[in-house]
Amino acid sequence: MKKLFLLFIPLLIVTCKQIPTPAVVVVKEEQPVKKAKNVILMVGDGMGLTQISAGMYSNGNYLHLERFPAVGLHKSYSADNLVTDSAAGATAFSCGVKTYNGAIGVNADTVAVQTILEEAELKGLATGMVATSSIVHATPASFVAHVRYRKLYEDIAADFLKTEVDYWVGGGKAFFNNRENDERDLYAELRAKGYMVSDYFINDFEDVSTNVKGNFAYFTANKEPLPKAQGRDYLVRAASQGARFLDKHDKEDKGFFMMIEGSQIDWGGHANDSDYIISEMLEFNETIGKIIDFAKRDGETLVVVTADHETGGYAINPGSKMDTIIGAFTSDYHTATMIPVFAYGPGSELFNGIYENTAIYHKMRSAFGWTEEE
Ligand code: MG
Ligand code: ZN
Repeated sequence: MKKLFLLFIPLLIVTCKQIPTPAVVVVKEEQPVKKAKNVILMVGDGMGLTQISAGMYSNGNYLHLERFPAVGLHKSYSADNLVTDSAAGATAFSCGVKTYNGAIGVNADTVAVQTILEEAELKGLATGMVATSSIVHATPASFVAHVRYRKLYEDIAADFLKTEVDYWVGGGKAFFNNRENDERDLYAELRAKGYMVSDYFINDFEDVSTNVKGNFAYFTANKEPLPKAQGRDYLVRAASQGARFLDKHDKEDKGFFMMIEGSQIDWGGHANDSDYIISEMLEFNETIGKIIDFAKRDGETLVVVTADHETGGYAINPGSKMDTIIGAFTSDYHTATMIPVFAYGPGSELFNGIYENTAIYHKMRSAFGWTEEE
């Protein structure tokens, strides 16, 4: 007994001394049952559980989110604030790093980090983005750009020329062809690169025909698109057409990565406007339905729906009815509540449970079967 005790003590000391304190925690994801050929990430900006609930009750007690077999929760905080902004929130999804609020595709030391969209491009997959904000706004920007501050819209636009996003639809034309900080015409540069480029001023989105062999970019507004309630109506079509485009565009049949954002659910929250939240939420829901239909037919597409954060501290107050939501708000900014994650298709099982927002990046890579470390 005494001998054993003496043997045990030095062992314990050695063990304690050897516990490493790594600067970076490498997250090893489990492998999916079946790999996903395509991954579609859908971000409802500012879409917390109450935004979802209000949309559901306002839609006959149903949302397409009910078709998702896997549901999880993510912890949305950023590197420098328990309450994240959309830049740090999207960079967590696109790069797998917690960074400071305002950061676009860079880590907490402002160093550029390769995004999952860029990695998909390098691996020969097709890539696409659709947003109801400008395409240079924080959420889409974080998938293609690397800038230290989210409001550097012209720098972000220039980064769209560095990564070949095959299909994109969103606002922000002015940051490409009416620039204040340089003389470049990125609109013309895109055309020179072989993009078919069009915009709201030339054609309505539904009148533009796409050629799946070339790349496609369409600007829906000079800066920020209108709210849904004021007539903006391209999200459903642009998203479902985009998924079909990317599916056919990819000659080598390697698959695609696509990010679709319902950008203005957040703006309804900032405005403390329940009706604004609900109308944006229902358009996003319709888009989710179309994307799930695509994934169901395709059988090789993982669809992940989540939000970067909640906005407004939104609540459904007593006296509300199914069709009459009495909304209340604690803030005109974001809050730090956990955020639901819904997954459908191959690899969806990885998204059950509670995890950091950065884990979504690792889970998507893992679903693709990309096992090497980043
Ligand atoms: Mg956004
Ligand atoms: Zn916001």
